[in-house]
Amino acid sequence: SVEGKTAIVTGSNSGIGLGIARSFAEAGMKVVLNSYTDDAADHDLAADLSKEFGTEVRYIGADLSKGAEARRLVTEAGACDVLVNNAGIQHVAAIEDFPEAKWDAIIAINMSSAFHTTAVAVPMMRKAGWGRVINLASAHGLTASPYKSAYVAAKHGVVGLTKVVALETAEDPITANAICPGYVMTPLVEKQIPDTMQKYDLDRETAIRDVLLARQPSKEFATTGQLGGTALFLCSDHAAQITGTTISVDGGWTAL
Ligand code: NAD
Repeated sequence: SVEGKTAIVTGSNSGIGLGIARSFAEAGMKVVLNSYTDDAADHDLAADLSKEFGTEVRYIGADLSKGAEARRLVTEAGACDVLVNNAGIQHVAAIEDFPEAKWDAIIAINMSSAFHTTAVAVPMMRKAGWGRVINLASAHGLTASPYKSAYVAAKHGVVGLTKVVALETAEDPITANAICPGYVMTPLVEKQIPDTMQKYDLDRETAIRDVLLARQPSKEFATTGQLGGTALFLCSDHAAQITGTTISVDGGWTAL
């Protein structure tokens, strides 16, 4: 049972990370929330979840664009049975116009932070005799789209990292897997809608159906609750032999 296990979920004050944190808290896990903001609202969110689900929920601010901060997050948490590397940002531009600083930030936050947190968490999991590493990759960890060079590169990197961590922990009671969502309605996607409307000169509804969900055959966004359920399944005993692989939650995107 996962009850009482400690889970660190990076980038969990909104979107998918928050959905996963809620599912974990509901299952009785102790949860560490994180983002770079470290606002009063973040600490209030932890207190609210703790009250709602009757379990320990803490917030630790850390800017995961910096390796040392990513490592401090895990050290400061003090325990890490489940590590969910979820923090991520997006930027959409043609490669010749892609700002170098955006490239660096996306590689650092979406990919390198998972290297740093995992490096600290795996020894803790070995010591505890159980562990789960769950990386939020993307359908863009398996396939590509134009104008998302940094994101697609980082997400393919995360899938590769996941396989290596799985092999290095294969004989330990630890698994490492990547969840590959298609489009999930979160603030990250919400921010892409105006750009898409402008770029293709479309109204909101058409931009969503014909551009954002063009490659999602179900024509529906996945929900953060469904991602929480998938992460919880990977923590269960049923998933003990699932390691080094990807689970798509993409309405059929990667079947196309
Ligand atoms: P979101 O914008 O709602 O949340 C992103 C989270 O990352 C926030 O909590 C934010 O505070 C945090 N974050 C950003 N920069 C950070 C930094 N420097 N340090 C620490 N935290 C930082 O986004 P989301 O849609 O929930 O995405 C979560 C993850 O899922 C990302 O890795 C994203 O790439 C991936 N994903 C999302 C979708 C989707 O459709 N929304 C699809 C596939 C994959």
